[in-house]
Amino acid sequence: MEKLIFLKYGELSTKKDNRGFFIKFLSDDIKKNLKDSVEIKYDLGRMFIIPNDNNFDNVINKLKNIFGIHEIIVAYKVNDRDVEFIGNTIVELLKEKKFKTFKVDVKRSDKNYPIDGMSLRKIFGGCILKNISDIKVDVNNPDITVHVEIRNKEVLIYFDSIKGIGGYPVGTLGKGILMLSGGIDSPVAGYLAMKRGIKLEGIYFESPPHTSEAALNKVKELAKKLAVYNNDIKLHIINFTEIQEEIYKNIPHEYLITIMRRMMYRISAIVAARSNAKIIVNGESIGQVASQTLTSMSAINEVVKIPVIRPVACFDKLEIIDLAKKIDTYETSILPFEDCCTIFVPDHPVINPEKEKCVEYEKLINYEDMIYTAVKNKTTIKITSEDKLEYQDLL
Ligand code: ATP
Ligand code: MG
Repeated sequence: MEKLIFLKYGELSTKKDNRGFFIKFLSDDIKKNLKDSVEIKYDLGRMFIIPNDNNFDNVINKLKNIFGIHEIIVAYKVNDRDVEFIGNTIVELLKEKKFKTFKVDVKRSDKNYPIDGMSLRKIFGGCILKNISDIKVDVNNPDITVHVEIRNKEVLIYFDSIKGIGGYPVGTLGKGILMLSGGIDSPVAGYLAMKRGIKLEGIYFESPPHTSEAALNKVKELAKKLAVYNNDIKLHIINFTEIQEEIYKNIPHEYLITIMRRMMYRISAIVAARSNAKIIVNGESIGQVASQTLTSMSAINEVVKIPVIRPVACFDKLEIIDLAKKIDTYETSILPFEDCCTIFVPDHPVINPEKEKCVEYEKLINYEDMIYTAVKNKTTIKITSEDKLEYQDLL
């Protein structure tokens, strides 16, 4: 008897034409994540994962963080397809488990197997009842379901499945640029975008000396947390100081944030085009702050043609916080280091900015040259989930 893991793809399997494409992405992700710790085999449309060194817990924990996997199943494979042998093996496995009620579910992948499904269910059910005391059958709400799959050369026996995180394998839907600040919202937005199969690159706007090295390190740490799902993540770091200062000096303060965000969007769109990313993703949430009213979002959005996806647009803050805790970004996000927005926040930001005024005010600064310089001077780093960052020093 061999113990192994196989996966159920759920939503993926509905995409018939693209199935092979999705599964190739998924298996590449699995190989990157699990490296030499497993052997992967394919048979009759199933992907089997065999942990080396029998380290099932470790492998399952990693599989739980890979998008595209809906169920993780630990199964026992036997090569003898004799009914009596299968029945005895089931009993042997069940003796390790605590349950009062059960049902048997049989799948005959080999349609030529000489006994039909209904008879097999009865045979295995009878064998279990005969050999284990104080249990009974409950087909509606059993404590345990015994799954038996009769395949061409072997039989798989398995019980409960472990829930995966679902979604699509990262990269299958293309690439996006995530505006990643040090706040709570944008990492959550990034997670949700990755779940839809979008591979992300991050962009962070810093304004040294107004923003600190610690703020940048915090963003790197958040990128590292997202890298768990994205395999690795590129982070583009844009020096925003000159633009920020020029806006501050020349533009009426109630429009500071609106204009600043229009600049961020313009730069993100250029970086996206260069990275062949099809969308911008950010953590804007409707109504959360002055720059996130519908009028503000519209005045800001109009400077770019690329679609801007806002995965948390309709979540309230508590829902976002819940998710941030679940994906383990919350504790990092609430560290106190300022990102560039918070330093230049005016007392009374405009809630309903006028597009014409934005255009008029932007004429007061030479923003095209500054944007060109900022993009030219950007630094790009690659962060993996295993990188040792200086994060601990921040605490
Ligand atoms: P967050 O909690 O994600 O920081 P927020 O509620 O503070 O969001 P804003 O500061 O208005 O809201 O930012 C809205 C979105 O704009 C952020 O979620 C992020 O996607 C993007 N953003 C803001 N500041 C930066 C920055 N310095 N670098 C990159 N993206 C940024
Ligand atoms: Mg913020």
